[in-house]
Amino acid sequence: MDKKGRDKKDKNMSCSFCGRNYNVVKRLIQGDRNVYICNECVDACYTLIQKDKKKTPKQFHKRTIAPSTIKKHLDEYIVGQEKAKKCLAVAVHNHYKRLESNETDNVELEKSNILLIGPTGTGKTLLARVLAKLIDVPFAITDATSFTEAGYVGEDVENVLLKLLRNADFNVSHAQQGIVYIDEIDKIARKGSSASITRDVSGEGVQQALLKMFESSTINVPPQGGRKHPEQQYIQMDTKDILFICGGTFSGIEEIIKKRINKKAIGFNPNTGLVEDTSSGEVLSQVNMGDLTEFGLIHEFVGRLHVTATLNPLSEDDLVSIMLEPKNAIVKQYQKMFEMEDATLEFPMETLREISKSAIKRKTGARALRSLFEAFMLDIMYDLPSNEKGAVYTITPEVVQGKVPVTPQKLRKSA
Ligand code: ADP
Repeated sequence: MDKKGRDKKDKNMSCSFCGRNYNVVKRLIQGDRNVYICNECVDACYTLIQKDKKKTPKQFHKRTIAPSTIKKHLDEYIVGQEKAKKCLAVAVHNHYKRLESNETDNVELEKSNILLIGPTGTGKTLLARVLAKLIDVPFAITDATSFTEAGYVGEDVENVLLKLLRNADFNVSHAQQGIVYIDEIDKIARKGSSASITRDVSGEGVQQALLKMFESSTINVPPQGGRKHPEQQYIQMDTKDILFICGGTFSGIEEIIKKRINKKAIGFNPNTGLVEDTSSGEVLSQVNMGDLTEFGLIHEFVGRLHVTATLNPLSEDDLVSIMLEPKNAIVKQYQKMFEMEDATLEFPMETLREISKSAIKRKTGARALRSLFEAFMLDIMYDLPSNEKGAVYTITPEVVQGKVPVTPQKLRKSA
């Protein structure tokens, strides 16, 4: 409405957005009933909408990275576990290749989902996390223990696809080319004969549901997460191109493997005694489909995990390397914090060995390291900012054992 038209109208007319009266704005446009908007608010809305249009969703560029490049990147963070690193590098490389081939020709490359088996704290999740940083496709990590069979208390397996969707800014086609890591997969093994009496809601049923997801199928994903219900609108996702990596400790599987290879060894060469001497890492590396089935995974489920890589238990030397070498090594992190306080932190080798030994006793792999460090570093970190600058702190094995407190041993000569 222009000024002429306005004169006849109510003198109190004002913009419903900014509240300014009709006589202080150039133009006031009337909407339904007594709703108005001024020219300045229209301009502001237009600018906002244009800005929104410019915001494009996160782009995931498909590019094939050589397995050796992937492995080199993994080497920067993960100590040892050569076989697992190689397996993952090749699988991820092939995943990219597959995505590219889908676009260019008609030869269908089958995807190879991966199973990582190894003791707690040996780097299974870390492998997945480091991979997530490197790769250029959406990535989601979840825990199999949170899943239960549809209809029971717990999460539906489809929720992992929702995580993937979220990480792809709800771009369905990008999410459909992502990678999913499912931890603690051994916890959904069938619970032996008792399962036939009471329903195995978190075992076989979940395996069946996951199996459906692993196979190329269209899955209805509830956009709000949680339980599915009939009135809900679903987002449909095709899992054909999603790479699934599963990880688990499978504690007790070594006994199953030993039983099998022992039998063979007796039949083949009873006098070698080789099997008896085999380390747990070596035993684990001989795992096969039958062992996994005997452990409690259903045959079809195992059949969908084409690549199995095992991780070795970490030795004292490995743990020392973990403390020192990776880009985010714990010793490097603490030393950095001391540097920021103009102090120097030293860890003699015998101290690192002492920490390694304590960690091994805890049987949680490298996971134990951080809590061990936190325990003896707490008092030092507490006093550090108020202590005199330029001091050198040497952590001795006695400090780690809690026998003596650490004191700044010497002062650097000030410049
Ligand atoms: P899990 O095998 O149980 O999934 P994680 O990968 O979560 O174990 O390991 C726990 C932590 O221990 C990691 O965040 C990392 O700091 C450390 N860690 C474990 N294994 C390694 C390894 N091989 N190299 C470097 N750090 C490791």
